[in-house]
Amino acid sequence: MEKEILLIALGGNALIKKDQEGSVEEQFENLKVSMRQIARLSEKYRIIITHGNGPQVGNLLLQQECCNDIPRLPLEILVAQTQGQIGYMIESTLDGEFMELGIDNKKNFVTLITYVVVDENDPAFQEPLKPIGPIYTKEEIASVPYPTRLTAKGYRRVVVSPEPVTVVEKNEIRKLIEMDFIAICCGGGGIPVIREERSFHGVDAVIDKDLVSAKLAEEVGVDIFIIATDVPGAILNYGTPKQKVLRSANIRKAELFLKEGHFPPGSMKPKVRAAMRFVQNSGKRAVITSVETIEEAVEGKAGTEITP
Ligand code: ADP
Ligand code: MG
Repeated sequence: MEKEILLIALGGNALIKKDQEGSVEEQFENLKVSMRQIARLSEKYRIIITHGNGPQVGNLLLQQECCNDIPRLPLEILVAQTQGQIGYMIESTLDGEFMELGIDNKKNFVTLITYVVVDENDPAFQEPLKPIGPIYTKEEIASVPYPTRLTAKGYRRVVVSPEPVTVVEKNEIRKLIEMDFIAICCGGGGIPVIREERSFHGVDAVIDKDLVSAKLAEEVGVDIFIIATDVPGAILNYGTPKQKVLRSANIRKAELFLKEGHFPPGSMKPKVRAAMRFVQNSGKRAVITSVETIEEAVEGKAGTEITP
């Protein structure tokens, strides 16, 4: 019997936890938690790993500001760099966990530089809203060569965040999965590109990694879509004495909770939306859970499950 396909979308905290400096040692240590579970799961499931890159791409942006002697790199190149950097860290941690668990060391994995097509007529291009990278003072923003906005943390660069239309490498990913290779892809939401027939070019934008993961899950025909983050699931009345983890909700209920404002944009809202889209379009399972409880979520024993 064919193994079912799992897509696991790793949040930023799989690598850097809140209040950590984010050294390479910390990132390797943190990754063990998810990679140990993924190593065990890979015996029963075929696996696709996607991941965020917020803190890593933020640091690369800061490094651009630190040096005036070398040409600055555009965002699309930095996203490509983080796909390589994080892919390397995931692969080497996974290898270590396979060894530790004594699981078949011939297990194959591949990190793919991934492009994601966006639509140049997407209304999101009208207004850059997504803050990224370093925080600037009011004086500094006068000389910064891109749009900025005042956020809760201070002035930050803002970019547009268009919808993912299609993952360019979906056929390659399907082939890898058919061969039971673990595919690490769509890092940082993928490199956003606009297509002109066969050619494409990168744009200064950031695609939400949860939404692109849902798109890929659909395009590849995934059976279970897991969104792993730093909270046990989607929480109702978050941050109040009445807060409560939602164990499951059907699409209609989830839509209602969204309307009532339980899930804010930029954090929990895209996760709930991504889970809803996948379930709606595939009829399969989607669970939002913590990085520590990926295996339990696969078994239906943890997290918030979105049902049709
Ligand atoms: P990731 O890097 O995993 O994508 P995010 O920071 O984007 O993580 O989203 C997870 C965060 O969403 C949690 O750390 C939590 O602080 C925040 N959050 C806001 N509202 C909610 C909610 N209703 N339920 C759960 N988490 C919420
Ligand atoms: Mg996020």
